[in-house]
Amino acid sequence: MDNHPINEQEYLASNIAAVRASIQEAAERVGRRPQEITLIAVSKTKPVSMVETAYHAGITNFGENRVQDALPKIAVFRPQGIRWHMIGRLQSNKAHKVASSFDAVHSIDSLHLAQALNRYREIEGKDRLPVLLEVNIAGEQSKAGLSAAEAPELARQIARLPYLDLQGLMTVAPRVDDPEEVRPVFRALRFLQYRLRDELPDCSWQHLSMGMTDDYCIAIEEGATIVRVGRAIFGERVL
Ligand SMILES: *Cc1c(COP(=O)(O)O)cnc(C)c1O
Repeated sequence: MDNHPINEQEYLASNIAAVRASIQEAAERVGRRPQEITLIAVSKTKPVSMVETAYHAGITNFGENRVQDALPKIAVFRPQGIRWHMIGRLQSNKAHKVASSFDAVHSIDSLHLAQALNRYREIEGKDRLPVLLEVNIAGEQSKAGLSAAEAPELARQIARLPYLDLQGLMTVAPRVDDPEEVRPVFRALRFLQYRLRDELPDCSWQHLSMGMTDDYCIAIEEGATIVRVGRAIFGERVL
């Protein structure tokens, strides 16, 4: 368990304030407005009590990467205005649970998965599910996501699904020592966004979900509209 010298409430509040300040500074460095950047607190492996504390410190967007771990938290903590984001690798056999519990999915990388989510969203009688295509920009073998070359065709097919709302792109940058090294990855996702905007103007393409604890400031400089921050808010994960 996390063992912090100060209480959990103060610990999370000061972490969140520090992250918000960094978001603001990064945005201002490139002439962007900080309000256009959504902070998702990635609460994976953390107990729902911490989610609740972060919520009371002003966080309304939470990210989880495993359906089984997330569902119990979502079931007990659903106050007004909260949004739960699925950010991890997702198999189609979990699509039903995700479609009924989550408010957005960042990790779409196949038509099969998109179709399953679309179908269950319809069955559940829910509104359109906001989704992002996960793109493996760096082409890492170990990572989920489709290649940039595959994105336009998959986007075209997903754009036709009536219960999904394709809003943009997501990527997970490689782990590096110096975050500057991943700047080209974020930039490439932005260039892909420009291209898709031209080719498929019917989708909003408003979101670039990119940047985690080690690199979210660089991602913001490169156009991130959503950053997914875990450790800088909740502390290291001990697993
Ligand atoms: C865990 C995770 C994050 C957050 O990572 P941190 O380094 O803890 O900020 C962001 N995105 C995805 C897809 C993740 O799995």
